[in-house]
Amino acid sequence: MSAVWHPFTQHGLREPIPRIVRGDGAALWSDDGRRIIDAISSWWVTTHGHNHPRIAAAIAEQARTLDQIIFAGHTHAPAETLAAELCAMLPDALTRVFFSDSGSTSVEVALKMALGYWRNRGAARHRILVLEHGYHGDTIGAMSVGARGVFNQAYAPLLFDVGSIPFPDPGCEQASYDALEAACRTGAAAFIVEPLVLGAGGMRMYPPAVLAEMQRICRAHDVLFIADEVMTAWGRTGTLTACEQAGVVPDIMCLSKGLTGGAIPLAVTMASEAVYQAHYGPDRATMFFHSSSYTANPIACAAANANLAIWREEPVAGRIASLGERQGRRLAALAQHPRVSGARRLGTIAAFELDGDEGYLSDRAPRLMARFREAGVLLRPLGTTLYVMPPYCIDDDDLDAIYAAIGEACDAR
Ligand SMILES: *Cc1c(COP(=O)(O)O)cnc(C)c1O
Repeated sequence: MSAVWHPFTQHGLREPIPRIVRGDGAALWSDDGRRIIDAISSWWVTTHGHNHPRIAAAIAEQARTLDQIIFAGHTHAPAETLAAELCAMLPDALTRVFFSDSGSTSVEVALKMALGYWRNRGAARHRILVLEHGYHGDTIGAMSVGARGVFNQAYAPLLFDVGSIPFPDPGCEQASYDALEAACRTGAAAFIVEPLVLGAGGMRMYPPAVLAEMQRICRAHDVLFIADEVMTAWGRTGTLTACEQAGVVPDIMCLSKGLTGGAIPLAVTMASEAVYQAHYGPDRATMFFHSSSYTANPIACAAANANLAIWREEPVAGRIASLGERQGRRLAALAQHPRVSGARRLGTIAAFELDGDEGYLSDRAPRLMARFREAGVLLRPLGTTLYVMPPYCIDDDDLDAIYAAIGEACDAR
């Protein structure tokens, strides 16, 4: 019997939990010697592929040099380099980099920055606006700004109240704009949004023009615009960040998942100079009150620096474009299947609905996962939504195998 308590797992169902012993590129191996294609990038984190030699080498080297140092009142080269390189790669208006260790924490930091900004400027703004169906993590603040449902019902008494803006379904964009405008007019602190794709909310996609218009409305009312790029950045949507496609520069941007290429936990919350300056001054009471033990861990920063070097020196954009095209062709063929609807793609993310209206708690998704596991493919449906989001290094044979497994699942009832 294992003592391990797994995330999002009902152990009482005694569903099998494969033991993974090795990874390489787009593949994983289980302890019974089976090769498994990682079609979801190990929950959206692995970008270049598992065990990338440059990232692995950077981790090993840093672990021999400096493993950990308190980051309050101290600094180190891996963090300084990473902050400078992030500022160089991302829009000029994002001038400050605050480190933490997960996507959820980067969101907590973003929310605290927004409230600190308004408090230090002497304004009583604290209401947070969110987009319907959003997901921002599983800590209390991150759950508060995410969609409510069975996932967080037990914790509802702890969650704070937010203003929810309807998702901009095609043809209904104006209703979203009007709701956002009305909510902004009452004086909100910030609007937090997943740019272009709502991941855990079912890979719901909306066009760049909508993102740009939402930002315009926020700006017109001085409401801080927080882009949660935890899933969408690092090439997932076809560009370095999703905001880039909309010409949007947020006031605060959350990055994590692919920041280290998916090798080791790290997150940053990037902020505009105005947000930083609101916390800057001679008074200790206006400093930004946040820290965690492993803030800017040097080994994690070294992994991120290796990831950034790969972005600078290797044809990553070409790989992403190629994967997008190759996914697109296979998705178009699959979309002909009578049980498939809502086929959509953005960058390296392909998604669709498989008919059937059971919710997240039905046993359909686990049954599908078991079927995919048999076929040697790691896929994890979101309710009735299936999506394919592999590492950028995946080859045609593995992509074919993924789509063949999906095709067979569509045929079987
Ligand atoms: C995964 C995710 C998070 C949470 O990140 P963790 O590292 O799992 O805490 C936050 N926001 C978005 C958009 C995500 O997809």
